[in-house]
Amino acid sequence: MDMNFGIRPEIKVLLERVSAMVSNEIMPLEAEYHAEIAKADRWQFTARQTEILEGLKARAKKGGLWNFWLTDSARGLGLTTVEYTYFAEEMGRTPMGAEIFNCNAPDTGNMEVFERYGTDSMKKKWLEPLLAGESRSAYLMTEPDVASSDATNIAMSCIRDGDEYVLNGEKWWATGAGDPRCAVYIVMVRTGADDRQKHQRHSMIVVPADTLGIEKLRPMQVYGADDAPHGHMHFRFTDVRVPAENLLLGEGRGFEIAQGRLGPGRIHHCMRAIGQAETALELMCRRSLAREAFGKKVAQLGANFDIIAEARMEIEQARLLCLKAAWMMDQGDARAAAPWISQIKVVAPRVALKVIDDAIQMFGAQGISQDVPLAAMWTHVRTLRLADGPDAVHRRQVARAELRKYSQEKL
Ligand SMILES: Cc1cc2nc3c(=O)[nH]c(=O)nc-3n(C[C@H](O)[C@H](O)[C@H](O)COP(=O)(O)OP(=O)(O)OC[C@H]3O[C@@H](n4cnc5c(N)ncnc54)[C@H](O)[C@@H]3O)c2cc1C
Repeated sequence: MDMNFGIRPEIKVLLERVSAMVSNEIMPLEAEYHAEIAKADRWQFTARQTEILEGLKARAKKGGLWNFWLTDSARGLGLTTVEYTYFAEEMGRTPMGAEIFNCNAPDTGNMEVFERYGTDSMKKKWLEPLLAGESRSAYLMTEPDVASSDATNIAMSCIRDGDEYVLNGEKWWATGAGDPRCAVYIVMVRTGADDRQKHQRHSMIVVPADTLGIEKLRPMQVYGADDAPHGHMHFRFTDVRVPAENLLLGEGRGFEIAQGRLGPGRIHHCMRAIGQAETALELMCRRSLAREAFGKKVAQLGANFDIIAEARMEIEQARLLCLKAAWMMDQGDARAAAPWISQIKVVAPRVALKVIDDAIQMFGAQGISQDVPLAAMWTHVRTLRLADGPDAVHRRQVARAELRKYSQEKL
């Protein structure tokens, strides 16, 4: 089939509106929004923050710029994953972007799970408010005591007791769980003993955030930042009881769900990382043209032309790979798309990190300061080399797909 990275004209109109809103309405408020966090309880939104965030969200929603990520669902606008790539890149230019258009992680992945595997009552209670942008959710898989990049290690116990399940254990790095609007967690747990097949020992279960027995131990820090008010929380669960019907799909089917949940989320992160790289390149160019040293514009000094050219070329390569992975997803064969998703999951953060780092260097000291977004962008993109699977795990997938062409052996 012809590979098509195009975008339909009626969708392009929407993309232009998103781009204009990001540049003209969201980015100008970004600094003020973040400065507000320091003013009161870091884990609550100030009145001004709420006003900014909800005001922008209401404008996006009213204008039909909403839930673009619902690519293969009747509830969405019917974008292809290829088309969504361009939207995610635009939204990724600012850290606030994705949430304003209701396209933010981890909610999109969780909404996907509720949509595909949730019961009618879960859809009503959890999915509808999430789709409307009225509540937030978190995804709890990673645990402090096990190497969680191999999810078969996940150990939180989940034992049936009458018409309830009882959960015990710890989870950490639950992004978004510090947000006061976060109402529900989707939790990966162990339900099966060693006699079950390795990929049939785990399940996913829906846990309301206000369930008794859940302790928020601390927010994890990313290079010293707590990322309030969303945060990445460390939890302890002690005899947390939820109704048995909260178990999604059935005991032992956690990996089946994880497969579907993590694919799109990974590629969305990559698309946004490319948006960050574009922002960094723009800042680098503007700054190096505006400042002079040794009688020349900074852009003209040393190897700076080469650095700018390399940044442009690497961004273009990463975007094309991202579009190819998106196109593979649109063909409907998740297994065939997986190695392509893994490739871009390694490449996009690597490229974005390099471009952001070069931009920081060309800025001089201000580049690492609070005055420009580059330092925050770098730390955020750096986390993507771990979150949703560390680089090494994805490289392994790429290599296995390559070797399968030449050997039937299970490697
Ligand atoms: C900012 C941030 C947000 C996150 N958000 C969430 C979230 O919302 N929900 C959630 O559940 N988790 C979240 N995580 C956790 C993240 O998904 C895990 O950290 C990741 O899966 C790795 O697990 P681990 O930290 O246990 O590392 P480990 O599994 O201990 O791996 C450590 C290292 O071992 C090496 N390694 C592992 N496997 C291989 C291999 N096959 N080949 C070679 N080397 C290998 C790699 O270098 C790897 O980085 C987040 C993490 C960060 C930093």
